[in-house]
Amino acid sequence: MSDLMEVLDLDPPPDVQQSRGMDIAGKAFGYLTVVRKLTRDEQEQKYRSTKSSAWWVRCVCGIRFSVRRYDLVSGNTKSCGCRGKASR
Ligand SMILES: [Zn+2]
Repeated sequence: MSDLMEVLDLDPPPDVQQSRGMDIAGKAFGYLTVVRKLTRDEQEQKYRSTKSSAWWVRCVCGIRFSVRRYDLVSGNTKSCGCRGKASR
C-alpha cells in the first residue's frame, strides 16, 4: 500500500536551539521536518543565490522539497501544499 519511505536519521542534536537559528536540522515547522541544509551547489541551482540559506524538508505526506530558511521560520511555508488549505 504505502510507498517505500526513506528512513532518515532525524535525531536533532541537543544544542540545536542554541545555535542562533543557523542550524535548524531536525526541527519541525508546521507539517515539515527539516532534513538538512542544501549544499552550495544545490542552492545555486535552485535559487541562483547562496545568500539566504535553504533547507531540505520533508512533509508529513512524504514529499521532500527545499525551502528557504526565511519561509520556514516565518511560517510562510508549513507544508508542501497538501495541508496548506485545510479545505476539508
Ligand atoms: Zn505534503
